[in-house]
Amino acid sequence: MKNFNAVLDSQGKIYKHVFFDVDKTLTRSRTLIEPQMKAALFKLCATKDVVVVSGAQIEQIWKQVGVDFSGKVFVLAQNGNYAVAKDRKDLWRNNLSEGEKREMMEHIGLIRRQFKELFVDVDEHDLVQDRGCQITFSLVGHNAELTRKERFDPKVELRTSILEKIPFSSKTLEVKIGGTTSFDYFRRGKNKGYNISQLMKFYGWKTEDSIYIGDALFSGGNDDSVIGVCDTLQVSGPEETLAAISKMIS
Ligand SMILES: [Mg+2]
Repeated sequence: MKNFNAVLDSQGKIYKHVFFDVDKTLTRSRTLIEPQMKAALFKLCATKDVVVVSGAQIEQIWKQVGVDFSGKVFVLAQNGNYAVAKDRKDLWRNNLSEGEKREMMEHIGLIRRQFKELFVDVDEHDLVQDRGCQITFSLVGHNAELTRKERFDPKVELRTSILEKIPFSSKTLEVKIGGTTSFDYFRRGKNKGYNISQLMKFYGWKTEDSIYIGDALFSGGNDDSVIGVCDTLQVSGPEETLAAISKMIS
């Protein structure tokens, strides 16, 4: 399996199934898709299976990429724990139990107590989102100003050090660094990579015909579980993603 680090490297290989991360890949963080990207993605949908993969809830994904892609793309929401087919049918939805949610909230409580200084100027009600299959904890607020979010932890060092100081020692659950400011909590092993492999199995898609494009394929990034599942392409942001799509549709 190949892990490309530049759009040019992947030249020449033709894929049938193309998976995309959303935040910082198809769009900026929690931002609407740009018209050029939208047009290119529409063209891609005409010849390939396009799968949109995100830690976000499906409503947020439609908001960002545009609901006009409904019926044209497959969606793996909440890191793939909620899967929707191209014909809009639900494929699976792995909801968390109350006990599982409690365990996650306890870890969030520990972080909040030990890193009090981070939470002085935030909207209390905007930090934790129960997404059903996943709980997402943003350290500055899910709807905080974008520039503030992008400035918060661009190198992911802060969140990495928090998890080093306060590891989440659950037997059945795990936490991953997600998006620009958050931690994603979900069932152990039920990450993007696992759920992508489940979708590929479900449809009988071949590994060699599939590629995943994302901005966080580095170790510890929220796309790193896809390494080893199919070919991957690391992009720096939407500009490079657009360049990759342009190659595929040209
Ligand atoms: Mg991303």
